[in-house]
Amino acid sequence: MLYRRFPKISSLEISALGLGCMRLPTIGGDASTIDEAAATAMLADAVSAGVNYVDTAWPYHGQKSEPWLGRAVEDLGVRDRVHLATKAPSWLVREAGDWETFLSEQLSRLRTDRVDFYLVHALNRARWKNALQTGGLEFLAKAKADGRIGHVGFSFHDAFDSFKEIVDGWDGWEFCQVQYNYLDEDYQAGGAGLRYAAGRDLGVIVMEPLRGGALARVPEGIRTIFAKYPTPRMPAEWALRHALDRQEVVTVLSGMGRSEELWENAGVASSARPNAVTKAERALLDEARDWFLSRTAVPCTACGYCKPCPSGVDIPAAFGLWNEATMFGALEASRRQYESGLKASGSGAEACADCGACVPKCPQGIDIPARLAEALAALS
Ligand code: SF4
Ligand code: SF4
Repeated sequence: MLYRRFPKISSLEISALGLGCMRLPTIGGDASTIDEAAATAMLADAVSAGVNYVDTAWPYHGQKSEPWLGRAVEDLGVRDRVHLATKAPSWLVREAGDWETFLSEQLSRLRTDRVDFYLVHALNRARWKNALQTGGLEFLAKAKADGRIGHVGFSFHDAFDSFKEIVDGWDGWEFCQVQYNYLDEDYQAGGAGLRYAAGRDLGVIVMEPLRGGALARVPEGIRTIFAKYPTPRMPAEWALRHALDRQEVVTVLSGMGRSEELWENAGVASSARPNAVTKAERALLDEARDWFLSRTAVPCTACGYCKPCPSGVDIPAAFGLWNEATMFGALEASRRQYESGLKASGSGAEACADCGACVPKCPQGIDIPARLAEALAALS
């Protein structure tokens, strides 16, 4: 295993592969029923492989991930060998006291008196505003000062402009966590976000390097592209090497469901150094990205400039699901997500009143209401 350091936390060596505890083995296809024996065995394998960063969060596995991790770390006796990371559910914070309530419960669930890395979870512009208004930053500074938090960061899902605002909004941040993979170079914070964070001395943790596993189970067209490389490599290895090539990246989190995946990914993280991807490898990764992007239904970059929609439509989310369907040939999965997510919450394309307010705001020149109607036809 190779190790890297956060610029502001240079005393710690962090494994280049981190264990994400959001896709643990489960029983009977029920995400809230963790197969604890298998998950604990995988954690033991991870520690053996040199993984020392373990990431969970309040909502993972129907709130069962944190309690399982607390028990597993205690049972295995590895508390001094892993850095525990968890996250404050920023969308559930209504008032100042909620920050304290969540951290206290999380310490109890994790059976520890200190969370080594504590993140404000899934910040976007609205949640950032809420964090400021509810005294989130003051709370984080206090919890760090009294030792219940080791290091403070945030995870992020929004457009690059919001990312800059949050990075620049507090000098207490020590790290951040962003989605990054060879397909999402220009999505959310993207590659520009990595550079921006590094410019402010924030170490970057990468999430979704395999895009929820989709870049491990790629279509035939992508396999054909990677097959041009003289040495056989699994698709997941291409994706991990791409993320680990960035020198801004400290660790790459992968939500692994089986020990076999863990060992494969640990093997990659044992040899993937920054700036090691060759010109020929880069050309194949670019070709793979172009293959995917040429199959997008709509050129939405999820910049969010069209928001908010007065009728409550989550425009980038609707386009995102439609694009997932066409890029990965996964229409049924996108339809299910659409039904249970956007449609159920009233923020789907059917809520569009065709007012046109969003159209001039889109830098991509997308005729948003017309394309939303097409997305609705595809996803419903
Ligand atoms: S055209 Fe539709 S999506 Fe755009 S702002 Fe109006 S209601 Fe919202
Ligand atoms: S529709 Fe346009 S403005 Fe809205 S998120 Fe997509 S690219 Fe940005």
